[in-house]
Amino acid sequence: MAETNFIHAAIEKDIADNKYPEREIRTRFPPEPNGYLHIGHAKSICLNFGTAEKYGGKCNLRFDDTNPVKEDTEYVDSIEADVRWLGFEWAGIYFASDYFDKMYECAERLIMNGKAYVDDLSAEEIKAHRGTLTEAGKESPCRSRAPEENLRLFREMRAGSYADGEKVLRAKIDMTSPNINMRDPVLYRIARVSHHNTGDDWLIYPMYDYAHPIEDAIEGISHSICTLEFEDHRPLYDWVLAELEWPMAPRQIEFARLNLTDTVMSKRYLKALVDNGDVDGWDDPRMPTIAGLRRRGYTPEALRDFCERIGVSKSNSTVDIALLEHCVREDLKPKVESRNVVENPIKVVISNYPEDACEYVEIENNKENASMGTRLVPFSGELYIDGADFMEIPEKKYFRLFPGNEVRFKGAYFVKCEEVIKDGAGNITELRCVYDPETKSGSGQETRKVKGTIHWVDAKTAVKIKVRSYGHLMIDEANGESVLNPDSLMERVAFAEPAIAAANPGERFQFFRHGYYVMDEKITSENERVFNEIVSLKSSWK
Ligand code: ATP
Ligand code: MG
Repeated sequence: MAETNFIHAAIEKDIADNKYPEREIRTRFPPEPNGYLHIGHAKSICLNFGTAEKYGGKCNLRFDDTNPVKEDTEYVDSIEADVRWLGFEWAGIYFASDYFDKMYECAERLIMNGKAYVDDLSAEEIKAHRGTLTEAGKESPCRSRAPEENLRLFREMRAGSYADGEKVLRAKIDMTSPNINMRDPVLYRIARVSHHNTGDDWLIYPMYDYAHPIEDAIEGISHSICTLEFEDHRPLYDWVLAELEWPMAPRQIEFARLNLTDTVMSKRYLKALVDNGDVDGWDDPRMPTIAGLRRRGYTPEALRDFCERIGVSKSNSTVDIALLEHCVREDLKPKVESRNVVENPIKVVISNYPEDACEYVEIENNKENASMGTRLVPFSGELYIDGADFMEIPEKKYFRLFPGNEVRFKGAYFVKCEEVIKDGAGNITELRCVYDPETKSGSGQETRKVKGTIHWVDAKTAVKIKVRSYGHLMIDEANGESVLNPDSLMERVAFAEPAIAAANPGERFQFFRHGYYVMDEKITSENERVFNEIVSLKSSWK
């Protein structure tokens, strides 16, 4: 994080005010292990880890598992892998559920200090008592219970004397507060649910707004960075720590969450896509998950660059997904080798090329980066060109191959189409061509110019591959709604130059004139090499 933003400005002021004299700057990334991380989380990861790095502090990875829903070790493992893949290392790794004892102890302290009470009202009654933005709330009849009675009831709640929902522990703050979050919020509820970490040890579980400040404080977090929807919860965050008289309480700072066009950023929605089989798992290349983007061929550098470019702000907005695509394109441009790959192949037979002969022509590995060297590509009298590079009846300004026209075969020779051969059904089966041996690329001997350059592969040595390209996961409709894009996966067969046979899963290339591709790590097999389009060559980002 090279740039300074409002969060860094706040931290720098705290440092200047000598607010943390004996402590380093400490942040945390606190995911709930109930799904895979998405690109929105990447923003939070870059911000939290980047901030700690910038101020020579530390950042923890904390699994916020206070809610005993279906949390899964699969999610825990994937989150660790994703954070590491992005290039960050945590100072400590913690589970919020490890703090249940401490949270309970704190609750008893609040009770004895007259700051919390056990309420018998049902969830509906509590809701009805809460009031509205324009109307004060009503106090519960249980609000005046004595601390000793509250303590006894709370201990009974823990011991299992009451049914789920029969009682809750509430903070005693102010039912007339203009901030509804301060109207005696619930701190603990009864839930007979096994927890993935603590098993059946607990029948009561702390609420997020109560648990989170305590988690931060226990870990000595200096700045608790979270998203904007928690802004109205900050007074409660501060109240909990103030009432517990925590020394050097952490400071909560909010920023706007990332929204992207043509996709969704909610774990719940993404999980539904996975569960419904709408996508091929959390790491489907169309998913905005970090695992999906990785399988799609995105690099950690591209994601970090993206997070830096979008910056942090105090107001919600939606970022054009084209910026994300721009970042990966820019990252790959100087880094990956190109390969000749043709789709919808048309056979080219060069009638004046020596029969059964073959030669190797030298082609640069990366047009933008000469240091990546060259490779030798076999050329012969039987080649394939891309279906898009031939037109029997050319349209205006079509400079590629058509009958009577001459083009350069990239890295090789000038080739002219003389005749189109068709089968009985009228399909083109081959193009009869001639080449000019005097025009070998780099020989400097050509005396005339051609307007088009096209790529090709040698027919005998070409390797059949499968290419998959992807549309956006969602379509944002004019009315603001987002619907699943039914045509988000397109699959084609293609022919590649023989060097592709040595590619490894996860390896990235530029398919010359097509786009950037990665060999799929999941479904590539010995019999079938599958490549995902990472991003096209052309940018729609302005
Ligand atoms: P979701 O709504 O997708 O489930 P969440 O906020 O419930 O997201 P958590 O696991 O609680 O997911 O998030 C961990 C951290 O990542 C939190 O600090 C949260 O604020 C942050 N985060 C989540 N989504 C985004 C986003 N779209 N942009 C920025 N930060 C995000
Ligand atoms: Mg959440």
